[in-house]
Amino acid sequence: MIATRLLPRLSAAKPAASAFASSSRLPTSSRAFSSSAISLANTLLYLEHRKGTLNPSSLVALTAAKKVGGDIHAFVAGDEGVKDVADKASKVEGVSKIFTSESPKYKGLHSEPIVPVLKSLVEKNSYTHVFAGHTAIGKDVIPRLAALLDVSQVSDIIAVESEDTFQRPIYAGNAIATVKSSDKIKIITVRGTAFDKAAEEGGSASIEEVSDAEAADAPTTFVEEKINQSSRPDLATAPRVVSGGRALKSADGFKKYIEPLADQLNAAVGASRAAVDAGYADNALQVGQTGKIIAPELYVAVGISGAIQHLAGMKDAKTISAINKDPDAPIFQVADVGLVADLYEAVPEMMEKLKK
Ligand SMILES: Cc1cc2nc3c(=O)[nH]c(=O)nc-3n(C[C@H](O)[C@H](O)[C@H](O)COP(=O)(O)OP(=O)(O)OC[C@H]3O[C@@H](n4cnc5c(N)ncnc54)[C@H](O)[C@@H]3O)c2cc1C
Repeated sequence: MIATRLLPRLSAAKPAASAFASSSRLPTSSRAFSSSAISLANTLLYLEHRKGTLNPSSLVALTAAKKVGGDIHAFVAGDEGVKDVADKASKVEGVSKIFTSESPKYKGLHSEPIVPVLKSLVEKNSYTHVFAGHTAIGKDVIPRLAALLDVSQVSDIIAVESEDTFQRPIYAGNAIATVKSSDKIKIITVRGTAFDKAAEEGGSASIEEVSDAEAADAPTTFVEEKINQSSRPDLATAPRVVSGGRALKSADGFKKYIEPLADQLNAAVGASRAAVDAGYADNALQVGQTGKIIAPELYVAVGISGAIQHLAGMKDAKTISAINKDPDAPIFQVADVGLVADLYEAVPEMMEKLKK
């Protein structure tokens, strides 16, 4: 069961611009209250990985888990390479034990076979908390676990106030809810931009294998995965992002103006939902409430109005720069640097200047 309270500071109706007036990050708790009180928490972290690499969102979730305090164990499952991932994870600072489970049943990392094993671990070890990244996989695995354990999930947290109280954004990030869970087991996903990643060195966790015997025979079968191959940096983690909006008018316009600018800045490419819906850019590039939530060092918004749902995905960028021909476009209310100009003139000019 959870109780929710809105932060008074943000619960009053405010124009979008003032709610996002600063480009600073959403408030995150840097207070490690566990240092002043003995924590009775006992946490299991669900570790995501791909091709032998730990997902950064799991390392972010670990930082949030550390704020709760207590002992932290991790669980890694997969159909191959699990040992290598566990070896890497054992060096991550703050984890004392890694449980591993490797089985062909986990191909595709679907939640159906993984969650019964997770549930059994949680019950056997009496974990008080389960943490995971708020990623596509986290959003698949964690709600199923919460349902099987018959507890409420607290999703997409951005701050830890205490062992049972967390903050999470609501209304596309325009208000922050403080959520207190009275459930015996707190099941939590963590926003990938809200905490720093835990250090990948300095730990020495033990590794223990668990059987896949509990893995359910899943009603779904993994068929194939198609991943967009791109030589550009990954949108979710790139330090620089250049995004285009509806103003690009076509897929060709997007290719001609956004992609070369991104390449010149060694940046990832992003897009507004309007650009994605119109077919100018791939769905995987969408930034915003229903797309990716990112916090790069530099975010360049080209021909994007700055609708609240778009801001929800990029307002934590350290520096926001915008090109828009409308001086009243809302994007300028969050931009650190704004250029009121026609993108079809400004982008080629920028490219020329960047070449020098
Ligand atoms: C539930 C929900 C979820 C949503 N989720 C998302 C989301 O995740 N991400 C997202 O982006 N949107 C999302 N949206 C949509 C959002 O509300 C906006 O419709 C969308 O962001 C608008 O995209 P845009 O800025 O590219 O287009 P527009 O709003 O049409 O803006 C285009 C901008 O380009 C400027 N422009 C035009 N021509 C030029 C030119 N030649 N040079 C320079 N500037 C020019 C215009 O002045 C204008 O500001 C969501 C909406 C809903 C209801």
